[in-house]
Amino acid sequence: MSDKDDAETMRGRLRSERVNSLFSEDELIEDYYDQPAANDSSCWNDYGLSTLQSSGTVSRSSSMHSGSTEGLDASAQLLPIIKAGWLDKNPPQGSYIYQRRWVKLDADYLRYFDSEKDTYSKRFIPVTSIVRVASIGDQKFEVITNSRTFAFRAESDADRNEWLRTLQQMVDERKFKGLNRISLFQPPTGALESVDKCGLLELRGFKNKLYVVVAGEKVFLYKNAEDYRQGIGITYIEMNVGNVKDVDRRGFDLTTPYRIFSFSADSDQEKDEWVEAMQQSIAEALSNSEVAEKIWSVEANRFCADCGSPKPDWASVNLCVVICKRCAGEHRGLGPSITKVRSLKMDRKVWTEELIELFCQVGNCVANQFWAANVPPSEAIHVASGSQERRRFLIAKYKEGKYRRYHPLFGNQEELNKALCATVTTSDLAETQSLVFCGAEVSCFSGDLDFPNPISLAEQAGQKLQMEFLLHNKNSEIPRVEVGSSEEKHYSVILPSVTHNGFLYKTPSMAKLVHERKSREEFSRRWCTLNDSIFSYYENDRNAVPNGEIKMEEIVCLVNNPPDTHGFESTFEVYIESERLYLFGLDNPEAIWKWVKSIAKSFIHPRADELLSHDFERIGRLQYKGGLNLERAKEGWFALSQSVLYAFFEDSDKEEAVHLKKLQELSIQGDSLVLVERRRTLYIQGERKLDFLGWVAAIQKAAGSSGDTLSEQQLTESDIPVIVDRCIDYITQCGLTSEGIYRKSGQNSKTTSLLEMLRKDARRVRLKEGEHHVDDVSNTLKRFFRDLGDGLFTKEFCQDWLKAAAVENEEEKIGRYRQLLSSLPVVNRATVKALINHLYRVQYFSEMNQMNTHNLAIVFGPTLFQTDGKDYKAGRVVEDLISRYVVIFSVDEQEMRKQQDEITAIIKMRIAGSSSGTQQAGDFICTVYLEEKKTEAEQHIRIPATMTAEELTFEILDRRKIETKEKEYWSCFEVNEREEAERPLHYSEKVLPILHGLGTDSYLVVKKQLSMENMLIYLASRVSDSKHGMMKFREERNLLGLGLSTGFHDRYFILNNSCLRLYKEVRSLKQWMPAVETSHRPEKEWPVKNLKVYLGIKKKLRPPSCWGFTVFYENEKHEKQQWYLCCDTQMELREWFASFLYVQNGGNVWPSESSKVRASRTQQDSRLGNISLIPLRGNENEMRNSVAAFAADPLTLLRNV
Ligand SMILES: [Zn+2]
Repeated sequence: MSDKDDAETMRGRLRSERVNSLFSEDELIEDYYDQPAANDSSCWNDYGLSTLQSSGTVSRSSSMHSGSTEGLDASAQLLPIIKAGWLDKNPPQGSYIYQRRWVKLDADYLRYFDSEKDTYSKRFIPVTSIVRVASIGDQKFEVITNSRTFAFRAESDADRNEWLRTLQQMVDERKFKGLNRISLFQPPTGALESVDKCGLLELRGFKNKLYVVVAGEKVFLYKNAEDYRQGIGITYIEMNVGNVKDVDRRGFDLTTPYRIFSFSADSDQEKDEWVEAMQQSIAEALSNSEVAEKIWSVEANRFCADCGSPKPDWASVNLCVVICKRCAGEHRGLGPSITKVRSLKMDRKVWTEELIELFCQVGNCVANQFWAANVPPSEAIHVASGSQERRRFLIAKYKEGKYRRYHPLFGNQEELNKALCATVTTSDLAETQSLVFCGAEVSCFSGDLDFPNPISLAEQAGQKLQMEFLLHNKNSEIPRVEVGSSEEKHYSVILPSVTHNGFLYKTPSMAKLVHERKSREEFSRRWCTLNDSIFSYYENDRNAVPNGEIKMEEIVCLVNNPPDTHGFESTFEVYIESERLYLFGLDNPEAIWKWVKSIAKSFIHPRADELLSHDFERIGRLQYKGGLNLERAKEGWFALSQSVLYAFFEDSDKEEAVHLKKLQELSIQGDSLVLVERRRTLYIQGERKLDFLGWVAAIQKAAGSSGDTLSEQQLTESDIPVIVDRCIDYITQCGLTSEGIYRKSGQNSKTTSLLEMLRKDARRVRLKEGEHHVDDVSNTLKRFFRDLGDGLFTKEFCQDWLKAAAVENEEEKIGRYRQLLSSLPVVNRATVKALINHLYRVQYFSEMNQMNTHNLAIVFGPTLFQTDGKDYKAGRVVEDLISRYVVIFSVDEQEMRKQQDEITAIIKMRIAGSSSGTQQAGDFICTVYLEEKKTEAEQHIRIPATMTAEELTFEILDRRKIETKEKEYWSCFEVNEREEAERPLHYSEKVLPILHGLGTDSYLVVKKQLSMENMLIYLASRVSDSKHGMMKFREERNLLGLGLSTGFHDRYFILNNSCLRLYKEVRSLKQWMPAVETSHRPEKEWPVKNLKVYLGIKKKLRPPSCWGFTVFYENEKHEKQQWYLCCDTQMELREWFASFLYVQNGGNVWPSESSKVRASRTQQDSRLGNISLIPLRGNENEMRNSVAAFAADPLTLLRNV
């Protein structure tokens, strides 16, 4: 029953008893209000007392502060009151009593109050929603809106007629304005535009939740969403007098001088959003509206130039148009060369007197006469247009100039410029606008040297507004219809329009990742629609106004959660640009997947829509750096599906796949996630925190081992688990000749911890000689296979393998094996091959390691088949595979021979030990530091047997892009941490033997040898090749076993071109003559070539000065000695050290032409073959330049020799 019907039947019921109006349909606000005295006047008794005041019409021009009663709530009234007075309002349904109401009309609303003192109305009806007003007799009249009719009774016919006349005038004015706007479309309802936040909130004193809307500077209260859609509300709160205060977890107060509104939200999250929205609204209300008032003084400027929304408080200062907030957002997307967006209220500085005046003279009216001269109604936008429509319209209007009025001179540049020069000296701004936006050049040459351009001409002519206009358009882009799509960024891409709807369960949006399980109770059922690139959720499917919406272009990431992550079987997460996360769920995986696909389709860039073909868990856009240009971050589209990250990089239209389990390195550096592949390093950047953290966790998880089967492990390029690869590699390097390899069991605890480490992140584990024992490593490999889920040969085929072993016919058996091999999964097949290849090599050295094929088969049979060892057939299979390796795996014979040679070389190398570095051997991978030992300075480098210290130095410097300057003596140092001593390697020294001899507490570092220049000067200036002098001497007792001295003692030393001699008695050398040397017997004498001289002495020994050496000596019988020498001054130390270098290297201390070596290195690289380029750690330059370290395939280690 409508209000109108009520009104008809009302007369007869007038005398009936009054019904309590609490919670009555139409009078909600009084439920909450403290009962003000004036409220009594609504009692029917009062009605009859004829205390009605005569209604007074307040002049429209009167300011809001003028009225005596209005003065009380002046600050809450921004618009002047046009008419106010007492009226009787027909009662709501169920009541028979007319209610006395104080009714006010302003330009926007018709409102009624309990009393004239009230600030907050009981009801407001937007003038825009009034369709017509009509007289219905008995001093009564109706206000008719699309949805409802309100009946009022005036005190007299005259008063009634006055109300009717005023209302009619307002309605007509509004209609006229509507027609005058460029958009012919009125919003279908009185609903608000530019809503900042809306939804249901509990308000203390109300039984039901209210629909609350924060829009601009006001907060509106509606009975429900339906009322909001119809535009008819309870009251609104001007936020310039508001103050928001947190009360408890879900509650907050909006305090005004007149009333405290105590709200309560559904969750603390929701509450935070409300508080934030209201605070924003207060800020907006408090911002300066002076500029806006001035600009709005012109009628046309009171409606958005583009969509017609009322009270637009934004502007494009170069286009001279006043626009609404939503259009302003889309204007920004066009870029400042097309439109410069400023706020009328917040950007105070830009609003000079001239600019305001320009807006009054040009403004929306003149601007649209030009820009919107030919808008087809089908393309126009209106208040309710979606952002995609707006964007499309604004691009056409301002970027392409599609609707503009062409100037007659269009296309004739010279004439346009000439006309502009002439026009700017006049006050014809419309002509200037037309000329400029049809191509006249703002900075063209006028032909007059004194006033060379239009701006100076305007200035000279005193045309300040012309100047202002020209200045704002100095760099403006002239509209072009043929705007290329290449310039368009993602935000201007027209996304495909996907439509989908249905019920979903939704939690309040969140600002952090969801780590905990959300129960069903935390979700609320919502009707959801995806339409026109907007996802909206509603209270139910009958509601027309959404509780909230997500624009597709705001979405940065979409996640399809694994089943049962939360209380619903399937859930998905939506991440938006402003770092919020929405969680939706349903007990229907197919429906959820449909939603996920629909949403993904509507926000993924069309060029990347191939990503949608994957069963992705996560999809979205991310900033990344990669390739050769690391300076600029680019935008890419990514989808994660199991362990593959699919990507559409900015400069490519082809999908690329990053196999996360095959990464060589995965780390976080600063705010980037670094993915190192064999041929590429990708930096994914954390542009926004929320979705980035989600991606990092997901990628890390996908890159790790996900289970205990082979294919779930981290893999090498050749599909071998990294665990297997690391162990085989290590045994090949260090354990091939180790007796009982794979039979000895190693230490159980070490095996357990090593396997655990490898399982956790095999990629990060570096097995090192000295740190890991071969038997522990070999045992780890066996344990891995033994515990492997599904086994190496798979449960399915396991028995077939064992059966094959029993086949007697050799040929048939091999055929069976080959066939079984081909039916294994890729990873299993590759792993079987790698392992058997390895075992084949192990048995090759059975003379040394005692592990022939049969012995290996005994060990590996039960391990690989996971049997108890009683089934001899398991051993048979392994034995067959090893002994028929070449045939079964179709190994190329030449390859085989080469491999064998290489392994032989490694063995020889190891046997020969560090004394020989000239033989060919497997390249050794070594960690070398730059300048100091720290992780950032780490370089992993492949050391071929021939590499010299100088080559290594240059390799490191090249990687780091360090230019060597003259008089910089970069060298490679061997640092012994235990001894606190270091030794610069001679430039020609081979690095590999040194590495083999390097203890666990030693490492290599490349740095400048600071004393080299002084040493070279000394060597060049000295007269004799020998050096004599006193030094303090100390022997290492433990090593020598002599126990002669414990401290440092003075000794006299003579160093000549072959020996270092030590004399106990100084006095025995009264004269430092060569003759004396030979005539005396030294206490000790050492051949210099067998000495290793290190700079530094460990502090524990308390050396008498810091200028000391540590010297190692090894005689022919491999007996080692260690002693210390200490000088009094640094100069002495340098001279001694220089002399040692001189003698040890036959006078060749520093290369005369180091550049030669540098140039020849390129050749060396090619000799190394096709080394993978794997940047590891460090800065961008290094990433680009660093070369190769790890080969994924253990065999490449050997092949490259
Ligand atoms: Zn607009």
